[in-house]
Amino acid sequence: MSFILRNTALLRSITSVIVRGFTVIIGKLPLNGSGKMSMMTNVIGLECVVCGRHYPPSDIWTCPNCGQAGILDVRYAATARFTAADLAERPHDLWRYQELLPITATSQLPPLQVGWTPLYQAPRLARELRIKQIWVKDEGRNATASFKDRASVIGVARALASGAKTIACASTGNAASSLAGIAASVGLPAVIFVPEHAPDPKLAQILLFGATVIRVQGNYDQTWELCQEACAHFGWYNRNAAVNPYLIEGKKTAGHEIAEKLGPEIPDWIAVAVGDGCTIAGVWKGLCEMRQLGFIPRLPRLLGVQAEGANAIAAAFFSGKAPTPAPAATMADSIAVGAPRNWRKALRAVSASVGTFICVSDEEILLAMRVLGRQAAIFAEPAGAAALAGLAKASKLGLIGTHEQAIVLVTGNGLKDVKSAMRAADKPFTLPPDLRQLITFFEKSR
Ligand SMILES: *Cc1c(COP(=O)(O)O)cnc(C)c1O
Ligand SMILES: [Zn+2]
Repeated sequence: MSFILRNTALLRSITSVIVRGFTVIIGKLPLNGSGKMSMMTNVIGLECVVCGRHYPPSDIWTCPNCGQAGILDVRYAATARFTAADLAERPHDLWRYQELLPITATSQLPPLQVGWTPLYQAPRLARELRIKQIWVKDEGRNATASFKDRASVIGVARALASGAKTIACASTGNAASSLAGIAASVGLPAVIFVPEHAPDPKLAQILLFGATVIRVQGNYDQTWELCQEACAHFGWYNRNAAVNPYLIEGKKTAGHEIAEKLGPEIPDWIAVAVGDGCTIAGVWKGLCEMRQLGFIPRLPRLLGVQAEGANAIAAAFFSGKAPTPAPAATMADSIAVGAPRNWRKALRAVSASVGTFICVSDEEILLAMRVLGRQAAIFAEPAGAAALAGLAKASKLGLIGTHEQAIVLVTGNGLKDVKSAMRAADKPFTLPPDLRQLITFFEKSR
């Protein structure tokens, strides 16, 4: 039954694309370093990650030959490039990598600050983990406080360029709150589909940004299908990263930034939390592009970090078999993905990097939240701290040597999930307003 639904949705979405007749104009960007958007994109086509077929750069979502498994990869003209001198002139946000983004001059770009997040050195953290050097990239500093903003700005820009009057996605978490915020920044109506069991706190950000929230009486898969069908039926722009190949193009800019900022200092490892797999694949794509452009002399290895209770991609990495969907059980809701859709891109990236996967328990994630707060002053949501938990474990297991250096990608801010933060943190001390008792307290605690 659900198989039939899937195919119907796919057919409808293809039909609606043909009906709308929207295609991207292929062309070259002038490399003038002015930071202004040129008229055309450098996208030359889409390549299916399953069968390798090529398609023109239209707004088709998945490979018609492979169905929903056929996730597409955006390809650029060989002439699409920028130099360090070009970048030096440009604003500090993700649009600085315009030549390698699927946007045009006529696209209206969301005004919120996305990208160019801080990359801190964390020497005390490195000492605690017995690693030579650690950098922390704080993605919680994006406009709506998560990495997902990098994808949402591309989605919203493309929605506006295609003339869509509404944008939609199915999510309970950061993809939804990010889309709601970025859409609000340009006045584009957003419809968010959430499963019935969506936790209330997650809805606050989405609702505050004025999105229409549809609570679907069903599980996440049914919610996702309904969103697909609604997009096809109403002609809404679909921000689901699992089927929209352009969103990962925003995510890859984190890789661009790391390479631009560190250059020859690029470390041995990058630890990234993995749920659906799109984030780690995006970071890898950005790094590869920067390697090709000569910004970095070599590529780092990827450490994919999954929760023990949601480890489909890690299990597939070690077994060599396709992931088997299973219920996800972890407090790190942003990586609680039971049926990942971008696993091929993720596995390909980690293998190509000669990297590996590691799985962490919720206890290890809670500990990592504390350590990150104390040793680097970064407040992370559980999925954001999972990367550090994985790095700590990899160091303990000897997978990462004491002479090696690493980046931890902190994907979401701790204020997104205060309940978990309170679990990770110590309790306050309660005392009467009396100095003598305060003195006694500190004498005792010495
Ligand atoms: C979405 C998300 C991830 C994982 O990204 P995937 O593309 O699903 O692998 C990690 N951390 C946070 C905070 C997220 O929101
Ligand atoms: Zn295909």
